[in-house]
Amino acid sequence: MTPHIIDGKAMAKASEASLKEMIKALDLSPKLIIVTAEPDEASKVYMRNKRKACERIGIECEVFECPPSMTTDTLLLELTLWNNDPAVSGIIVQLPMPERFDVKKIQRAIDPIKDVDGFHPFSKHNPCTPEAVITMLMNDGFEFENKRCVVIGRSDIVGIPLANMLRDRNANVTVCHSKTSSQYLSEYCRHADYIFCAAGVPGLVRPEYLMYGQSVVVDISINRNNAGELCGDLHSEAIPLTLAYTPVPGGVGPMTVNTLMLHTVMACAEIKRANSSI
Ligand code: NAD
Repeated sequence: MTPHIIDGKAMAKASEASLKEMIKALDLSPKLIIVTAEPDEASKVYMRNKRKACERIGIECEVFECPPSMTTDTLLLELTLWNNDPAVSGIIVQLPMPERFDVKKIQRAIDPIKDVDGFHPFSKHNPCTPEAVITMLMNDGFEFENKRCVVIGRSDIVGIPLANMLRDRNANVTVCHSKTSSQYLSEYCRHADYIFCAAGVPGLVRPEYLMYGQSVVVDISINRNNAGELCGDLHSEAIPLTLAYTPVPGGVGPMTVNTLMLHTVMACAEIKRANSSI
């Protein structure tokens, strides 16, 4: 049986068309600000992908490169200006930032409506990657109620919010992490309907971790293998054994960017509505 490919790239393309229509229909002028400082190579690639998606959809995108003299306090002043500017719909901080910045303090200073990455505790948006994962499965008709789900990884931006969102949809969720023994990890995975891998460890999910033809694997990780190619956590020999899987690249990545675009357009509509009712 050939596994079904959960095609994030195609889904993102279709969603871009609806976002364009929404911008036109509601006469919106969305604008996204990306804050960055001394970006590494991976950050540059992620920012380029976000900028290109903005361009395709019709979202103005401004990359704010912090000068070397900038501190947390001076960046907070900039944030206040953007928070108060109705022309700005969304603000994100491209991680990692240099150590001199207090990233949590900066993220919490973003207006919850404009926190389109969903990192603020009172954000109006879910974190983009977990929301993208849920959307992708729903688009392809997968259900959550009473499903056995294993989430590998417990970070604040991926694993934990994803586990919460699955639990909210009545799934039975087990969270594994770096202290989970490989014996337990394989046992939990072998009994899972859905495996969500976000460990950042190439080849972690091995063929013997799967139920033949029954396991759905959502591979969130973006790693580089020894040949320098992009890959996820799912072992290449395990792919043919899945019922369905998300490819890397072309799976969760494009839909994460698309969710950011969706949040930016929604924030723009919300700001416009709030300003017109004053
Ligand atoms: P992180 O480093 O903050 O967290 C990794 C988690 O994996 C930790 O909780 C750790 O306990 C767990 N882990 C590490 N080794 C493990 C092992 N051997 N067994 C079980 N658990 C283990 O990373 P993150 O920010 O959560 O990102 C995870 C991965 O997802 C990375 O590869 C990142 O590049 C990728 N990512 C992709 C997208 C996307 O759009 N597709 C978005 C965000 C992150």
